[in-house]
Amino acid sequence: MAVATGQRALDAIWEKVELNERLDFEDGLVLMESDDLLQLGELADEARRRRGGTDEVYFVQNLYLNQTNVCRVKCKFCAFAVTQKQGDAYTYTPAEMVEDAVAQRELSRFTEIHMVGGENPHVDFEYYVDIIRSLHEALPDVHLKCFTASEIHHMTKLSGLSHEEVLVQLKEAGLGSLPGGGAEVFADRVRRLIAPGKEHPDFWFHTHRTAHGLGIPTHCTMLYGHVETYEERVDHLLRLREQQDETGGFLAFIPLAFHPENTVFERRGWTFTPGSDDLKMIAVSRLLLDNIANVKAYWIMMGLPLAQVALHFGANDVQGTVVREQIFHAAGAVTETEQKIDELVRVVRAAGRIPVQRDTLYNEVQRWNGAVA
Ligand code: SF4
Repeated sequence: MAVATGQRALDAIWEKVELNERLDFEDGLVLMESDDLLQLGELADEARRRRGGTDEVYFVQNLYLNQTNVCRVKCKFCAFAVTQKQGDAYTYTPAEMVEDAVAQRELSRFTEIHMVGGENPHVDFEYYVDIIRSLHEALPDVHLKCFTASEIHHMTKLSGLSHEEVLVQLKEAGLGSLPGGGAEVFADRVRRLIAPGKEHPDFWFHTHRTAHGLGIPTHCTMLYGHVETYEERVDHLLRLREQQDETGGFLAFIPLAFHPENTVFERRGWTFTPGSDDLKMIAVSRLLLDNIANVKAYWIMMGLPLAQVALHFGANDVQGTVVREQIFHAAGAVTETEQKIDELVRVVRAAGRIPVQRDTLYNEVQRWNGAVA
């Protein structure tokens, strides 16, 4: 597709941003193809502020859990999944998960459990309901943000139930929201290359649409930096925007940088995404997704120093304390697996912003006003 490039094209986008006009596919391509990183950051921050964004930067105190690493799907980008027969395979029982979470709660007052895992064919749907019910009973004040749309789809296969029936049962058991994983890149071409065993993206949208209809808020993501083109990135973002127009249930968008270590792509010589691409993704996401309030700079993948810079490229959330991230560390992430609140506060303040600890639904828990200490 021929797209006008250069400063004239960016000037036209500036005008649209100043008038609060919606950007289109061609605008998205111009932004993706621009090498003027600082201007992209300035544009994204301007757009964020014109849509009501403030100096507040959010984070949540959370705990990451993975119920199983056994998975039938074999996505080519995944370094986390194993088969049941591999020595490092694990599938925790609901009782083990509760014991672990309760012990962790003694150490940190997390308000959210973020839990995802493999699509294990050796468990039944009741296993998932039991986990949610048990965690909810043990920690009733903790928000359970659990299971990707792919896992929900897997549960329909295990149970013969519809997506709605699965979600209703999980909600009744205590599920609070869905994370955004499993989206990868929606384009069929990309899907065939990196995740041929995964269900069609229509199921991802169906699951999120159904969740929103049931009053279950969700998150959305894109795994970028592998075989996708700029056109496919923009297409992905605009499909999310369209869904949000329809249902309004996405709390945040999280761009996820692809990590190649321990995947087939590492053997082909692939490396990590450059920081410039990470910042570009944050900026373009913020500009195109005019109806999703929050864009996260996911420090687990980009590192805390770059996440701090990303706060000037349209991001307004640095995710959370996390505690024990495993999926991206299996793929070579060299970041910490946990951040202390003090460190997140320090980093946000040093960026000239106001740290606000939130719960999963963006209600304020605590804020740090005043000058940097
Ligand atoms: S990304 Fe998820 S679905 Fe794909 S192989 Fe890994 S655990 Fe399984």
